[in-house]
Amino acid sequence: MTTMKAVAVHPGQPSSIHLRDVPMPSVHDVPGGRGVLVRVLRVGVDGTDKEINAAEYGMAPPGDDYLILGHESFGVVEAVADGVSGVAPGDYVVASVRRPGSSVYDAIGLQDMTTDDTYFERGINLRHGFLAEFYADSAEFLVKLPKELRSVGVLMEPMSVAEKAIGQAYEIQRRLKVWQPKRALVLGTGTLGLLASMILRNRGLEVVAMGRTARPYVNADLLEEIGARYLSTADVSVAQASEMFGPFDLILEGTGYSPLVFEAMNALGKNGVLVLVGITGGDRHVEIPSDRINQGFVLGNKVMVGSVNASRADFVSGVADLAQCELGHPGWLGKLLTHPVKGLENYQTLLDTLTMGKNAIKVYCEVAELDRR
Ligand code: BGC
Ligand code: ZN
Repeated sequence: MTTMKAVAVHPGQPSSIHLRDVPMPSVHDVPGGRGVLVRVLRVGVDGTDKEINAAEYGMAPPGDDYLILGHESFGVVEAVADGVSGVAPGDYVVASVRRPGSSVYDAIGLQDMTTDDTYFERGINLRHGFLAEFYADSAEFLVKLPKELRSVGVLMEPMSVAEKAIGQAYEIQRRLKVWQPKRALVLGTGTLGLLASMILRNRGLEVVAMGRTARPYVNADLLEEIGARYLSTADVSVAQASEMFGPFDLILEGTGYSPLVFEAMNALGKNGVLVLVGITGGDRHVEIPSDRINQGFVLGNKVMVGSVNASRADFVSGVADLAQCELGHPGWLGKLLTHPVKGLENYQTLLDTLTMGKNAIKVYCEVAELDRR
């Protein structure tokens, strides 16, 4: 076999999603004998893929006029090069997204913290993604999952983004020596908000999650199943939520609606930490109560931090939290996998479901059977 099928776009050209034949990858594509060939089983899609196909984001690898899509991968190891240890054929794996550039952070495996202007992300920017039959990568970018988690493994990449955001909050709060967070607020109740709420519940916090949608809302029911509370921003403001159920020690803002950031700053509890994960490509302007927010931050020793992507360690914590969730709430994660689309050739349905799917939480492509070896 010298070629395989892949779903790609022409970056910069709107609605250019297509199926194409591309060279079959091999373990020898990776230098240093660290190559691993992975058969792709499932690939999730999200807003970033939508933006890439709309030509608002994303770049092809140097020398190619196309970019293979897909950054939320899940697969099974097909072959490994001689120098690989730790993963073997038959292992279920997920690949991280970002690849090292040249900053000091990249040099220690924290390319998610790069200070370079150019960043390399598989399926997004300058590197091909995983929406194909196979991919090859270095073992250092793969994280193993126990086979018991294979049915929910496609959630690992969004999980890693939530793990980093919450992990950063805890890391920062070591400044307080005795931080004992009790109440968290999660803004946004899509896949990321649901997974973040689950992680916080695993850590024993009371969780309030807010989204735009009024009940009946499946995501609200899912939140209640894990003991979190759902409030709709149609009924309650962030300030009101904080009066009723706060003060919040940790707020995670991931709605993609940037004015909420300032409401969250205002509502954050003393010594609290606010983590921002929404990527807002627009140019919105708002008026804010700047004196009040500033004074609250100073007198309350509050912190706000941005968080993007995830490191290997965040993927590893993600595996542990998926496992804890599966044990504590069997079947819950599976309910997030609302919209499977079978086969790479159905890429148009995949994209249409992503843009118009009713009650969609996770839309993903079933590239191959889960138990296929
Ligand atoms: C991905 C992240 C990535 C970010 C920015 C998100 O959709 O999940 O891994 O860092 O986009 O490109
Ligand atoms: Zn993403």
